[in-house]
Amino acid sequence: MSEILVVGAGPVGAVCALALAQQGVAVRVLEAQPADARGDVRTLALAHGARLILERLGVWERLSEVTPITRIHISQCGALGVARLAADELGVPALGYVLPYAQLAAALKDALREAEVPVEYGVAVDRIDAGREAATLATRDGRTLASPLVVVADGGRGEGAPPPWFEADYEQVAVVCDVASERPHANQAYERFTPMGPVALLPKGERYALVWTAPRAEAERIAALSDADFLAALYAHFGGRQGHFLEAGVRRTFPLRLTYTGSAAADHVVRIGNAAQTLHPVAGQGFNIGLRDAWELAALCADTAPARLGDAAMLAAYARGRRFDVLGGVGFTDFLVRVFSNDVAPLRHARGLGLMALEALPPLKTFVARRMMFGARG
Ligand SMILES: Cc1cc2nc3c(=O)[nH]c(=O)nc-3n(C[C@H](O)[C@H](O)[C@H](O)COP(=O)(O)OP(=O)(O)OC[C@H]3O[C@@H](n4cnc5c(N)ncnc54)[C@H](O)[C@@H]3O)c2cc1C
Repeated sequence: MSEILVVGAGPVGAVCALALAQQGVAVRVLEAQPADARGDVRTLALAHGARLILERLGVWERLSEVTPITRIHISQCGALGVARLAADELGVPALGYVLPYAQLAAALKDALREAEVPVEYGVAVDRIDAGREAATLATRDGRTLASPLVVVADGGRGEGAPPPWFEADYEQVAVVCDVASERPHANQAYERFTPMGPVALLPKGERYALVWTAPRAEAERIAALSDADFLAALYAHFGGRQGHFLEAGVRRTFPLRLTYTGSAAADHVVRIGNAAQTLHPVAGQGFNIGLRDAWELAALCADTAPARLGDAAMLAAYARGRRFDVLGGVGFTDFLVRVFSNDVAPLRHARGLGLMALEALPPLKTFVARRMMFGARG
């Protein structure tokens, strides 16, 4: 009964459980997928701040396929305005790090095992009920477990989520795959805004991880092209900065929505990561914010007397502490999608001016880069 129960061993739930265990708080994790499930195919860009957290958890040194981003090139299609961010100008070793989601998941799984955190794989949670002293959850295999704090880190997929405070369907879909380009990437990432949606190229090993967002029908068309037609379409859409695109890996699609449910669910229940907010991937903020959710929740649990764990005052303090960072990330991401995914002439010119200002004003560059690296409180 005194164990904290974490629902979901995705990267956010796993980080939360590890951080709790590291601080001596008893925790158990329930994960719907079997232990040998194949990892997700998406690629994650981690901010420098995320690296610092993973280092403190002893996870960073387990990651072998990390590609640093030392420069970011930001531009818009068909109009003036380019901004470039460089790690050395900002005094950090890298602006971010690119790695496969599946590798992060595997490293976290090993770390949980070594820390002797009990993780029950293949156990889906069907229901969570709040109570005065504790929350109870029902597993699909017929058990009922009680805990002073149930941490919902199910990626927003579980039943019984409270209605979101706000949500938006961007009617965009991300087409995701790895691509090889004619010129080596030299650790430079690209973010290119087009009227159809943003296109990101993230250096990943010898290749690029591509996140190409487009309206739903167009994305489905792009995803179904032959490899040769896909590579030609990408060249036409992105331009020739990296030369021609030579090879493409298997393509996957992800529908994109904004959902903000927030951390509050009921007494003794808290939501974190994608269960609390799901963002468009344009600025690579989703997991980075979820990681900070997990880290800060674990720190607060360690500082809370056992009798107060999960009570209304503790959950309100957590929500207050996270609000600025989370809403800052949600607002920034939503702003980028809405302001940059159109071809309205006055906005196009304003965007161009904004990018030129970013390029020309070092304090503005530092401000934007720090927020991307450390969140709204960076
Ligand atoms: C195309 C794309 C690109 C992205 N790129 C980036 C990026 O570059 N940088 C970044 O920071 N973010 C990025 N994101 C966002 C990032 O992927 C998510 O924010 C992150 O994966 C959320 O982690 P999570 O642990 O909260 O949820 P998830 O990764 O969804 O994990 C949830 C876990 O809970 C389990 N689960 C679900 N239901 C139950 C249940 N009922 N009982 C028990 N377990 C359950 C699931 O099996 C899963 O293991 C991207 C997203 C997309 C779609």
